[in-house]
Amino acid sequence: MTARILNGIETAAEIKSELRTRVARLAERGIVPGLGTLLVGDDAASRSYVTGKHRDCAEVGAASISVELPSTADLAEIADAVRGLNEDPAVTAFIVQLPLPARVDENAILELIDPSKDADGLHPVNLGRLVLGVDPLTAPAAPLPCTPAGIVELLDRHGVELRGARVAVVGRGITVGRPLGLLLTRRGADATVTLTHSRTPDLAAEIRRADIVIAAAGAPHLVKPDWIKPGAAVLDVGVTRVGTTASGRAKLAGDVDPAVAEVAGWLSPNPGGVGPMTRALLVSNVVEAAERNAALLVEATVGA
Ligand code: NAP
Repeated sequence: MTARILNGIETAAEIKSELRTRVARLAERGIVPGLGTLLVGDDAASRSYVTGKHRDCAEVGAASISVELPSTADLAEIADAVRGLNEDPAVTAFIVQLPLPARVDENAILELIDPSKDADGLHPVNLGRLVLGVDPLTAPAAPLPCTPAGIVELLDRHGVELRGARVAVVGRGITVGRPLGLLLTRRGADATVTLTHSRTPDLAAEIRRADIVIAAAGAPHLVKPDWIKPGAAVLDVGVTRVGTTASGRAKLAGDVDPAVAEVAGWLSPNPGGVGPMTRALLVSNVVEAAERNAALLVEATVGA
């Protein structure tokens, strides 16, 4: 193996340690950031994701508020729960754990989230702000999508230069590929991005030109070693269940053929790469929302 590791576990731990300091600073002013979660039904994977998010919050000293509904809940009941989280002052930002039951219109529910309380950064208003290039630090409420923001942070903290780099993103999905393209081409990031998908005529040729390859397709071992420019950074984001282990656990595969490690200069492992970064950036969005609220409070006091 020649590639150096883009270590998401260590980098996420570093981010959480910084968040702990910021949460302590907020606590001095009597502010406790709180992540709300809404879980509908009893899907084991969804429950385990929600539990993990609560654990991440506890690690940095943030609170978490859990709302659960049975799988029989209808659109009106779920909408009521979202409105409750919008109005709960203990909830700084929240997520609706997906998937919702098939009969419920997910987009209709997600649009009910107050954009200033959108922990995932995927509300249409916040995606619109990303399109418009609004600076997330100065805009009144503009959380970034967690996985794309986690990817940029992972590259940045390992010194992988984005400015001037050619980046091939595989997958145009709304949680990763499409917003990632927007983030990487913002002024300041200044990468040149090719956003590919299942209809791209010659995917290998697009990837061979890239200094950085980010695979978010959900297609096991799609990206082959002979597609990679020697020394390129490769990030494996996709996760697909490909079977069951002898102990009955889900067997998962990433989008990148493991042999890519022999050609790439940098490789994010999967698991242990982008996954922990996504979780850290979710907590970061909650803390940032609390800091924005605190700043607005100061402005209101000064203006009064
Ligand atoms: P999505 O909405 O399903 O999008 C998948 C994209 O991949 C689509 O644009 C699809 O193209 C493209 N694609 C599929 N097979 C392809 C192929 N053989 N060649 C080229 N492109 C192909 O998925 P998503 O929500 O963006 O997530 C993408 C993957 O990342 C999933 O595996 C998901 O589980 C994973 N993920 C990981 C994390 C993490 O933290 N590690 C977080 C979020 C998501 P078309 O548009 O043409 O169909």
